[in-house]
Amino acid sequence: GSLLTAENLYKAYGPTNALDGAGFSIHPGEVVAIMGPSGSGKSTLLHCLAGIVTPDSGTITYDGRVLSSMSDTERSALRRSEFGFVFQFGQLVPELTCVENVALPLRLNGTPRKEAERTALSWMQRLEVDDLRGKRPGEVSGGQGQRVAIARALVTGPRVVFADEPTGALDSLNGERVMELLTEAARSTNAAVVLVTHEARVAAYSDREIVVRDGKSRDMERAV
Ligand code: ADP
Ligand code: ADP
Repeated sequence: GSLLTAENLYKAYGPTNALDGAGFSIHPGEVVAIMGPSGSGKSTLLHCLAGIVTPDSGTITYDGRVLSSMSDTERSALRRSEFGFVFQFGQLVPELTCVENVALPLRLNGTPRKEAERTALSWMQRLEVDDLRGKRPGEVSGGQGQRVAIARALVTGPRVVFADEPTGALDSLNGERVMELLTEAARSTNAAVVLVTHEARVAAYSDREIVVRDGKSRDMERAV
């Protein structure tokens, strides 16, 4: 069955209908790209799915549990244990080294430092950034920073990784490498990926595309 589904989502910001009946579903291990023009509601949809934004109406179900019936505490516990996040700009903590950044979600879950950093380093190896362990985010390139951010998103073993324009700040070569590493790493742990992008080249790494237009979503058959 589906891991994450959303039905009939509506969300208004004042007079703007950011979501106007959008729906979504993803199976375990599936990579889905949410596409569409700027302002069409992609990020709002992603944030609703991730439990960061509450829709005005509609139902979101994760693993049989309805998000809106959970308390804020339950929802944030769910986000910490089941979800990983990658943003356009890595959003790494500038004061921490790269390995400390990757280890951070584990430290927040109470994992002892040595163990957290050992797990962090193994993820950094898979993303080919383990040599950056002692550097701070300001000392690494954009592509390297995104790979560190992906290692951080995967370090807790999430079942869904949400990625909002993860390659938006990269040139196309670095963007493709980041997508390759992200999808490989997610597939190796059977994590699903929900990816927002406006670039067809990035969406090509997905199993399925959802197009959002004026707050409405549509499933696309991949033209091969
Ligand atoms: P996309 O990700 O496709 O660019 P968004 O989901 O960011 O689209 O935005 C959809 C619409 O909702 C846009 O018109 C945007 O201006 C509006 N919007 C999104 N978030 C907010 C907000 N926090 N406050 C007011 N308007 C918002
Ligand atoms: P990548 O292909 O891994 O993204 P680049 O080709 O952009 O890397 O950069 C090559 C090297 O230059 C990197 O190893 C990095 O140390 C350094 N570098 C690139 N951009 C920056 C930056 N904005 N700040 C500091 N160092 C950078």
